[in-house]
Amino acid sequence: MSLDITTFYNVINNELTTTTQTRHGINPANRQPNPEVPLSTAEDLDKAVTAARKAFKTWSRTSVEARRKALSAFADAIEANAGALIKLLTQEQGKPLTQSSGEIAAAIKWTRAIPTLTIPEIVIDETEDRKVIQRHIPIGVAGVIVPWNFPVLLAIGKIIPAVYTGNTVIVKPSPFTPYCDLKLAELAARCFPPGVVQALSGGDDLGPMITKHPRIDKISFTGSSVTGRLVMASCAKTLKRVTLELGGNDPAIICADVDIDAVIPKIGTLCFMCSSQICMTIKRLYVHEKIYDEFRDKLVQFVKTLKLGNGTEPDVFFGPVQNRMQFETAQNLIDNIASEGLNTVLGGDIPASAGFFVPPTIVDNPPESSRVVQEEPFAPILPILKWSDEEEVLARANNSDSGLGASVWSQDLERAQRMAEQLEAGNVWVNTHVEVQPDVPFGGHKTSGLGSEWGVAGLTAWCNTQALYLKKNP
Ligand code: NAD
Repeated sequence: MSLDITTFYNVINNELTTTTQTRHGINPANRQPNPEVPLSTAEDLDKAVTAARKAFKTWSRTSVEARRKALSAFADAIEANAGALIKLLTQEQGKPLTQSSGEIAAAIKWTRAIPTLTIPEIVIDETEDRKVIQRHIPIGVAGVIVPWNFPVLLAIGKIIPAVYTGNTVIVKPSPFTPYCDLKLAELAARCFPPGVVQALSGGDDLGPMITKHPRIDKISFTGSSVTGRLVMASCAKTLKRVTLELGGNDPAIICADVDIDAVIPKIGTLCFMCSSQICMTIKRLYVHEKIYDEFRDKLVQFVKTLKLGNGTEPDVFFGPVQNRMQFETAQNLIDNIASEGLNTVLGGDIPASAGFFVPPTIVDNPPESSRVVQEEPFAPILPILKWSDEEEVLARANNSDSGLGASVWSQDLERAQRMAEQLEAGNVWVNTHVEVQPDVPFGGHKTSGLGSEWGVAGLTAWCNTQALYLKKNP
C-alpha cells in the first residue's frame, strides 16, 4: 500500500489517531503552511506509554530472528515509499531533493545494517562448578527525541537499534519537521506488533512531558547542547538512562601540502551541505598560511558556483535554512560580523526573499575570539582562519567546549594521523569529514554529547548490563 503524504496522524498502538487541536509546520522555501498535524496532549502520551509498556513484555522476549524479520520488512517499506518521503522531506526541511534522497538512502542503509550487528555475550569466568556471564538486556520504553535538520536519518538511527535490542519506542519529531517521522511510524505500524514503534507530534511542551514521564525508562535525544542540559536534568528526577547527541563546532585543519584543486570541491561541499545545518560539519576552517590566499580564493570561486534556491528545483545546492528561528540567528550573526568590521570574501548580507534563504558567507581570518568562530552558526556562514605552527593550531582547534568532530587534511598520512589523534572530539577524520556509517559508534565529547549511538557500542546503550552467575552444583 502506498503512502498518503497529504494527511498526518499520530501512531498509537498501531492505530492512526488525531487530536482535537492541530498545528502545522512551515515550508521554509516559501513560508507557506504545510498540512495540519496532531497536537498531542498528556493523555495521548499516557496512551502511548501504556501501549509501549504492554508491547515491551512480548517484544523484549521476541527472538532476534523475528525482530530482524520485522526490521527487514520496515526497510522494504521505506524503500518502496522512498520517492514520496524524499519529496516530503524537501517540503518540510528545505534541503534540495538530491540531499533528501541521500538522507532517505542512508536511513534505508542504517535500517538494514544495524540488525546485522550483535553484542557478544561474554563468559567472564568458568570453572567446574560455576559460570559467570555478562549479558545485555533491553531497557524498556524509550522516548526518541529528534531535531529538525535530519529528521529521517536521526529518527531511524535511534528507532532501529532500540527495537532491534528489544525496546519499544515513542518517537517525538521536532515541531518544525513532524511529517516524515509520522509517516515512518505509519510504515512501522505495518511491520511491527502494536506498541513497538509509536509516534506523537506535538508542540514545545511534549518533549518535557516525555523526559519527565515516570513510566519511560530511557531517552535518546539529539538536539542542541542547551536543550540537552534540560533533558538530562529532567531525566535525573526518574533516573532514566540518557543518550545525548548535541551541538558541535567542528574544526578542520588544512596542511600546506594538500592538493588544493583536488580538495576544494570536497571541503566546500562538506562546509555548506544542508546549508551548514549539520551537527558535525566543518564550522572552523584552519588553513596553513603558506597556501591561505590561494585556498581562500579558490574556495570562494567554488562556492560561487553552487546554486541557491527552492530545493525542488534542479541543480540547487543551497536550500533555505529550516525555520524562522534559524533564519534570525543567521541574520544576527551576519549583523555581528558587520558590526565587528570583519572581512567577508563572500556574501555578508541576507537579501529579502520569499523563503528563509541565507546565501553563503565566508569570513576572512577573523579573530579567534569572534562570535563567528566561537559559536555554532548552523547556517552557511564560515570563518576561514590562518595557522602556521602545528602545536598552536591544535590548541586553537581544541579550545572549544564542543567536541563532536574534527579533521586534518594532508598528504603526509603519518603526520595527519598524529595530529588527528590529538584532537578532542568523538569523531576524527583524516582527509575527509562528516563520513559516518551504521556499524561505527557516533558520539560527541565535552558538551557535544553523552554516550554514543550506532555500532556495537551504540547497541549496548539501548541495554542494561546483566551479570548472570550460574552455580552448576547447587
Ligand atoms: P533543539 O534542542 O531545539 O530541539 C531538539 C528536539 O528537542 C526537538 O524535537 C524539540 O522539540 C525537543 N525539545 C526542545 N526542548 C525540549 C525540552 N526541554 N525537553 C525535551 N525535548 C525538548 O535542537 P534543534 O534546533 O532541533 O537542532 C539543532 C541542534 O541539534 C544543533 O545544535 C545541532 O548541532 C544539534 N544536532 C546534533 C546532532 C548530533 O548527533 N550530535 C545531530 C543533529 C543536530
